[in-house]
Amino acid sequence: MDFESTHCGDWAEEACAKAQLNLTKKRRLVLLHLLKTRKPLSPYEIAEQIAQEHQKSISPMSIYRMLIFFEQQKLVRKLRLVNKYIGCNQELSKDVKAASQFIICSHCGSVSEIKIAFETIKKLRLEIAASGFQLKTPEMEIECLCNACHESSSH
Ligand SMILES: [Zn+2]
Repeated sequence: MDFESTHCGDWAEEACAKAQLNLTKKRRLVLLHLLKTRKPLSPYEIAEQIAQEHQKSISPMSIYRMLIFFEQQKLVRKLRLVNKYIGCNQELSKDVKAASQFIICSHCGSVSEIKIAFETIKKLRLEIAASGFQLKTPEMEIECLCNACHESSSH
């Protein structure tokens, strides 16, 4: 599914209604910005962009606190590879057969959200268990090269 063609605002509203959240204007602004941007952003980048686009000043520290809150509500994910936050595609997370995962270009930092079947994750969990480890989280960040970076590096 094309992330950009879906209605980001609707997911946010819907997800918040389900979680019985009351979004303040500032929280809503931050959440929608992150959902629409489609790029992983740090609290500082979000603060900067919101100041530019909406002429609103929100401190990176309060954005950071909001992000932790949104992460608990599964509206955003922290990408540990790049240490930034990204909005979750709520349509993808509705799927009962697959989990959404992020693939990240380690060269340009672009990110895409894909679905991996729970069946695959279950197999992975079993393989890991057979090696004497326990999978802590089924959320994966997969380091990749996007096609554009791959092409420019092979010339
Ligand atoms: Zn790239």
